[in-house]
Amino acid sequence: MVGKKKTWNKSKTTIKCGECHICNKPLMSNEGGWIVNAEKKYFCEAHKKDIKSCFDKYLEKKIIPLTDW
Ligand SMILES: [Zn+2]
Repeated sequence: MVGKKKTWNKSKTTIKCGECHICNKPLMSNEGGWIVNAEKKYFCEAHKKDIKSCFDKYLEKKIIPLTDW
C-alpha cells in the first residue's frame, strides 16, 4: 500500500471535533494543532516547546490546589 495517497483527507467535508476547553476555539478535523485528553476535553496544542498551549495552561491550573473551592 506504500505510495497510495489517502484521498479522504482532501474532502471538503470538515467536521468540527470540539472546542478548546480553555479558549473555546473550534477544533476542526482537517486542522492539526489540538489534542484530546483522557477526560475527552479538547485543547489547542502547538507541539512546540517554546509555545505555551492551552493544554499547558490547563495542566498548570490542575497542579495548583484550589483551596477556596
Ligand atoms: Zn485553546
